Amino acid sequence: MNKTFMPRFKDMDQLFEHQLKGLKWTIAHVYKGSVFYKKQFKEAGVTPGDIKSLDDLSRLPFTTGNDLKEGYPLPLLCVPQKDVVRIHASSGTTGKRKVLAYTAKDLDVWFDMFARCYEMAGLTREDRVQIAVGYGIWTAGMGFQLGCERLGAMAIPVGPGNIDMQCQFLVDMQSTVFCCTASMALLMAEEVNKRGIKEKINLKKIILGSERCSLAMQTKIKDLLGLEDMFDITGMTELYGPGTGLDCPMHEGIHYWADRYILEILNPDTLEPVEKGEIGEMVITTLCKEAAPLIRYRTRDLTRKINTQCSCGNILPMHDKIMGRSDDMIILRGVNIYPGQIDEVLSSIPEVGSEYQLHLERKDDGKEYMTIKAEIRQGPDLTNMEEIKAKIKKTVKSKIMVSCDADICVYGELPRFAGKTRRIFDNRS
Ligand code: ZN
Repeated sequence: MNKTFMPRFKDMDQLFEHQLKGLKWTIAHVYKGSVFYKKQFKEAGVTPGDIKSLDDLSRLPFTTGNDLKEGYPLPLLCVPQKDVVRIHASSGTTGKRKVLAYTAKDLDVWFDMFARCYEMAGLTREDRVQIAVGYGIWTAGMGFQLGCERLGAMAIPVGPGNIDMQCQFLVDMQSTVFCCTASMALLMAEEVNKRGIKEKINLKKIILGSERCSLAMQTKIKDLLGLEDMFDITGMTELYGPGTGLDCPMHEGIHYWADRYILEILNPDTLEPVEKGEIGEMVITTLCKEAAPLIRYRTRDLTRKINTQCSCGNILPMHDKIMGRSDDMIILRGVNIYPGQIDEVLSSIPEVGSEYQLHLERKDDGKEYMTIKAEIRQGPDLTNMEEIKAKIKKTVKSKIMVSCDADICVYGELPRFAGKTRRIFDNRS
């Protein structure tokens, strides 16, 4: 029997007990190790002794991205510098980057979590994993790579872009798993078909990181490559890196590693818990991170908890797909719109393809208008364009409660990117 990376909790009570232990340890650790956290706790009027149950989490102060930037270059550090064995940094474009430190144990925990993702996706030591994400100071490449080696599968570290080399290794190495962003996956799927090498490759699964992918886009990629399955992996630099959750083969939600961190979903304005099952901001508290633990860290990522147990039988809880960032939330005529909601709506219309853009403008009448420019799926004839337009308008109106205009274009007209795709064009000034 292969080694398993899954935790062995009999029920949720055992998991909660484990979380409370981790929370108490973390609070004592940061209070002792970090001037920043100690000051925060004093201001909030809490001491480690006050934490007696998981409900006491709500008494703790929040940590934000700004706290990380202000503490540059080694923010939130809670161990002596000699215990830090590695740093990684985020790709922050404005201001200073977020730099996160790791102890040897932190790395160990991260790679175990990542190996657990691969295990949940059904990978074994027989798999050959072609990794097409960034290497270097970013967490992505290292996470996919060392998680793969921890599992015992074969890593093929090609890195991002470089379509020629990707295609060559897919054929020569017979890679069974491909790891990349959603945009890159679509680009590869189209390229493999254009080059006529679909019959020569052996790809079975794709693991997608760091970019939202609609159901329509997933179906498209799966069909083009003849895949068995596709998975979404979650993670962020602040929380180790990618590998902190994955949707299992049942695809009922993203299982997250609740034995390693506590996830709260809060209203980004009031910072109070949202109603059960509603969308809110992910707020994270780590349970065993040594070098740079997070206490109620506001991720700005939006999702909702899924309150049913997955039919795969694993008791690890689930959240929904990431719906976007609270900073990306669009307010149109007083209605909050999350980009992920548009993905959902368009995916529900069979004639519409995976690629779309949102254009927002203010017209001469002073009112705001939204136009959805969407590609139709490969195949349908273009004579019923007006019907498709009407369907988009009607579905958006009924599901998001906002009126929009629709613009249809042919398959392949909207630009493809190897990195993240820009979809929102806000021209309201
Ligand atoms: Zn499951």
